[in-house]
Amino acid sequence: METKTCCRCNETKLLSDYYMSKNKREGVCKACRAQRRLEQCAAMTPEEKEAQLQRKREVRRAYRKNNPEKFKQYSKNQSQSRSLNPIIKSRRNKYRATNMDVERKRSRAYYRKNKDSVLAYQRGWGKKRVDKLSLGYVNILLGGNQHKKFPVELLEAKRVQIQIRRAIRNMTPANQAPQGAST
Ligand SMILES: [Zn+2]
Repeated sequence: METKTCCRCNETKLLSDYYMSKNKREGVCKACRAQRRLEQCAAMTPEEKEAQLQRKREVRRAYRKNNPEKFKQYSKNQSQSRSLNPIIKSRRNKYRATNMDVERKRSRAYYRKNKDSVLAYQRGWGKKRVDKLSLGYVNILLGGNQHKKFPVELLEAKRVQIQIRRAIRNMTPANQAPQGAST
């Protein structure tokens, strides 16, 4: 078996303990290389770290653009093996537990954006009732219930307000009024 002496730890190791350059007498073994990387990383300033991260992102983006099929397969494999990996699974659960605020904010933002359908879903209502804005539905949106009913005029005004909001939401950018329009 061919061996080589690491110029860092001075241990004689098999060639398989080195990355390439088999012929070169001088060389750093894999273990030392990993150690050196860790030290270099620890010595980096936050700006340097960010710059390195940015370079990596660019390389990845370029690869993704040039090899869309390969990337698709790759991400599929990744997500499959990640979801099976118990370490990643427990890390994910831990993240969710310690970032309750973030998760809660996310779900609140979702709720705000999809209030009508979320409420309808929670109450087990059909889509029809939500689409047609039945007065009972509008009453509940205002905070009422079976025993607490708002005046019909108010419900109808609220219904118009929702209709306007929905119309704005459904507008395509092309026919949206320009910012700052007075009408
Ligand atoms: Zn070494």
